[in-house]
Formats: sequence, C-alpha cells, structure tokens
Amino acid sequence: MLDFRSDTVTLPTDAMRRAMAEAEVGDDVYGEDPTVNRLQEMAAELTGQEAALFVPTGTMGNLASILAHCQRGDELLVGDQAHIFHYEAGGMAALGGVQPRLLPNLPDGRLDLEGAARAVRPDDAHHPRSRLLALENTHNRCGGSVLAPDYMLAAAEFAQEHGLKLHLDGARIFNAAVALGIAVSDLTRMADSVTFCLSKGLAAPAGSLICGSREFIAKAHRARKQLGGGMRQAGILAAAGIVALAEMVERLADDHARARRLAHGLAEIPGLAVETTEPPTNMVYFRLVDPGRSEAFQAACRQAGVLFGAAGGGRYRMVTHYGVEVEHIDGALRLIRQSTDEIM
Ligand SMILES: *Cc1c(COP(=O)(O)O)cnc(C)c1O
Repeated sequence: MLDFRSDTVTLPTDAMRRAMAEAEVGDDVYGEDPTVNRLQEMAAELTGQEAALFVPTGTMGNLASILAHCQRGDELLVGDQAHIFHYEAGGMAALGGVQPRLLPNLPDGRLDLEGAARAVRPDDAHHPRSRLLALENTHNRCGGSVLAPDYMLAAAEFAQEHGLKLHLDGARIFNAAVALGIAVSDLTRMADSVTFCLSKGLAAPAGSLICGSREFIAKAHRARKQLGGGMRQAGILAAAGIVALAEMVERLADDHARARRLAHGLAEIPGLAVETTEPPTNMVYFRLVDPGRSEAFQAACRQAGVLFGAAGGGRYRMVTHYGVEVEHIDGALRLIRQSTDEIM
C-alpha cells in the first residue's frame, strides 16, 4: 500500500528504536525522568520559550494549554478551519467550559486581525471574557500553509494590545520553519504557548510538547495531570523524540519537494483539479472535476493500492512523509491515473 493519508503513519527509525531501548528513565510524575527532562529542555530552547512539558498527544497539548490560560465561560478566538475547532472532539467546551468564537480563516491560514479586533468583547457582565487567540502553523485545512514571522509578530502584538494570550497550535511547526528556511524560534518565541507534535513528519511513535513561560508550564502541568496525561517512565518515548528533533527536521524539505512533484503530477491527470501545484509544505489537496464519481474514485484507488484521506466537501488530501520516496510518488500517480480512467 502507498499510504498518503497522513504523516502520522510514519514508523520510528532504527536510531529511535535504539535510543528507546537504551533510554535512561525515571518516574516523570515526580519529574525524575532524565530523558523527558532533556527533551523538554531541547523543546524550550528550540522554541525560544522558558520551559516545556511532554504530553502524549497534540490534542492534549492544545487542551492543557487552553485549560491553563482560560477559566470556565471564557472565550477563545479561533479560525473556522482550525484543528482545535474541528478535530479535537470539542474538548475545550466539554472539559474546559471554554466557548470558541470563530473567525474566518483566510485561504493562507491567517486570521484577519482587524476582524479579530472587532470580535474582542468589551468588559461587561453580559459577555464571556475574551481570553485567548489561537493560531495554527502549518495550517492543515488551509493546505498546509505557512504563517510567516511578521504575521506571528503582528498577532502577538494584537493579542497583547487586547489583553489576550496567544496560543500557537504548531503541530507541524517544523515544516513551517523548514519551508521558510528559518529557525523555529522565529515563529514561536512571540507566542504565550506553543504545542508541537513529534509523531507526525518527525516520525516519532508518540508525543507532543507544550512550550511557554515557567509560570504557564506549571499550570499546564496541573492540567496534564487532570487529563490523565502524567506518564511514568515516559523517557522511553521521549528518547525517540530527542532523535526526532536531532535528526528528522532537515529532511522535511524532501517531503515538501515530493509534495510539489505529486501536485504537478496530479494536475496532469484528466478529471482531477489540484488546489495548487505549488503546495507550501507536505500536503496536496485536490478534487474530482465530477464530484458524482467520488465514491467510485476512492474505492478504485484503494483497490489499486493508494490510500489518501477525504477532507469533506469533495476535497481529498495526500500527505508526503518519511517513507515516501520519489518512486512512490511516481507509482502512486500512475495508479491514480489508471483509477481515474477506469471510473470515467
Ligand atoms: C495532528 C494535529 C493535532 C493533534 O495532534 P494529535 O497528536 O493527533 O492529538 C493538533 N493540531 C494540528 C494542526 C494537527 O495536525
């Protein structure tokens, strides 16, 4: 199977498995796992934040961050295409009593800050309190788009001006940094909190980090415990994460190049419409010109051995990742072309 559903299907490298087997560990609920501590120090340093906290998933990282910033009845300003809004099972509302205030995402993943300013509530007992602004970089549903440092700075300034905190869902922030050719900290140090995933393009088996000030991380630490995310000898997982940060970041450029190759190839297949032939990172979104053939199309591709995701509304998503080589791209394009011919 050629699996383009997500970069989460990546398998740990040999170096990760060795590091996991040999990891020095302790009880991380007591803060005594030296490997977790080392990973957290690396994450804080890389993001230009004071401290960091290892959590099992990006979803828990975002939720623990929201719980640390917000009280019940507070409002979170967030894009209408955000992962936090669509794909995290309503955790902020269910567990935090936090209300999302949706702002339209621009096609490149940004939020219009003037529109955001109009959405900030005046201090009045009738209103929820506007507390937090959340951004996403890279932006999944906006095509893997990249927010640039100048926008991040403008958003941070906006947040400060309006008494909001700024949270960055940076599940794929390393893809953004590699695409721009800059340090991750240039995209993260201005945020009040940042989460990123080790388990996607960086190929670790599990784990995410929350980064922020020492004071914020202390609150997130309590939230992690409440959510059941306090793990014991978690250094086994953190060891793979250290390898991910040390060895797996620069190669993301290969994923981006392969996504462009894939997009160019898909654009040449009659019956398909690619959203852009220059995908900004590792995601390619496309549609069938005839949406009536959707089911037959996906079934034919699966039958031929190519897997990809449906993003809703007739959109398909293919994600390049560690393990997808150039020949896999070309093979998948051949099979997709055959499948498209078959169903037309
Ligand atoms: C994957 C993802 C998450 C959540 O990460 P999990 O580890 O799958 O819980 C959050 N935000 C974005 C943008 C993601 O792509």
